[in-house]
Amino acid sequence: MPQGKDVVPGRRSVGGSGSGNTTRRNAFCSFCRKSYRDVGPLVEGPGDVYICGECIELCQSILDQEQKRKPQKKLFNEIPSPRDIVTHLDEYVIGQTGTKRALAVAVHNHYKRLSATWEGGNDVEIEKSNILLVGPTGSGKTLLARSLAKMLNVPFAIGDATTLTEAGYVGEDVENLLLKLLHAADFDIEAAQRGILYIDEIDKIGKTSQNVSITRDVSGEGVQQALLKMLEGTVANVPPQGGRKHPEQQYIQIDTTNILFICGGTFVGVDEIIRKRLGKKSFGFGPGSTVKEEADVATLLGQVHSDDILEFGMIPELIGRLPVVTALAPLDVPGLIKVLTEPKNALVKQYQALFGMEDCELHFTEAALKSIAQKAQVKNVGARGLRGIVEEIMLDVMFELPDQEPGTTYTIDVDSTDGKVRHCKSIPQRKESA
Ligand code: ADP
Repeated sequence: MPQGKDVVPGRRSVGGSGSGNTTRRNAFCSFCRKSYRDVGPLVEGPGDVYICGECIELCQSILDQEQKRKPQKKLFNEIPSPRDIVTHLDEYVIGQTGTKRALAVAVHNHYKRLSATWEGGNDVEIEKSNILLVGPTGSGKTLLARSLAKMLNVPFAIGDATTLTEAGYVGEDVENLLLKLLHAADFDIEAAQRGILYIDEIDKIGKTSQNVSITRDVSGEGVQQALLKMLEGTVANVPPQGGRKHPEQQYIQIDTTNILFICGGTFVGVDEIIRKRLGKKSFGFGPGSTVKEEADVATLLGQVHSDDILEFGMIPELIGRLPVVTALAPLDVPGLIKVLTEPKNALVKQYQALFGMEDCELHFTEAALKSIAQKAQVKNVGARGLRGIVEEIMLDVMFELPDQEPGTTYTIDVDSTDGKVRHCKSIPQRKESA
């Protein structure tokens, strides 16, 4: 931005407070050669050297990328132990102990494998352990994968298998999933190549009649074959703009060998399949499952096996590439209450922080939390339903919050007259002025 004056504000590269201001009218950036009139203030270095804001930003992003690459080396020196990984996951995810352990071991081994390849010193080739998470909606599948990636400081992306179709049909190519990972890595291919890709709804691309929707007929086996290649490890041609690939396009090549794939699916009815395999008697499912049935489903899911997944129309080769199969249990009411209150960024904590910013306080009674959890359970979408319910309760309060006196306390409780969750507020006692 032109300054309209002769002075080029700037300072010498080492410290100073503008002491290096120069009056040179013809100063230009030593990097991009643009004049200060075009690019605004320049920073002056020793010996007639200048740099403009744009080049500083560019340099910063180059340095950031380098910085991001560094942890890769660091990560390989100090791969977190499975115990460390579980401890980290515990901060964000309630319950699901078995899944956390399975994930931790698989991820630990995956990065160990990478480090062996990296240092090139190992004759034994350790195979990649992609992971299949089986569990109902809102039980924490995505949250687990996301929390893992955050801990490992690797790029992470979420894709949805239902958007994928076989080449030739309307829909997306499998490579678009890799594009998401590339985006997450700020187009740093090297970083993307050791990232984590979570593919949701993998159960919806089964090839059998289990598919409910006719529109999914175009996916099925073809998509599974394409996914299989990616999971095995291949050099994929990723269209940088996304969408369908076409011959004239330039591609970005991504080697998927070291990408960790975590696939997730609800696999509705898999509990029945497990029950049959185990030869247990079914005692029937009515609407509104009882606590006993829920515990039963959780126990059954805990025994999930690759063979059970095959019945969903997944091709055996694909299942073979997902050697770690682990199930998440549906969250019960006590679990949902914990989700509301315990994780680092629990909903209740988030609202309390918002209240804190206005110097007000917020409390939820146990009865209110229980009622919210029960409502979410009825919705059958697991912890996913909690936010909507809490937001509805909090809407009026949040509307009036900024107008409240500092020190106002809100309590969210169950109204004993109609059983609805409501708020009541207590205003701080005014001090009498002397
Ligand atoms: P899904 O199993 O369908 O992938 P998500 O992981 O996307 O479910 O969960 C949706 C939201 O519900 C998460 O963002 C999180 O807030 C909450 N949630 C789900 N399961 C858990 C859990 N086990 N612990 C803590 N929060 C959870």
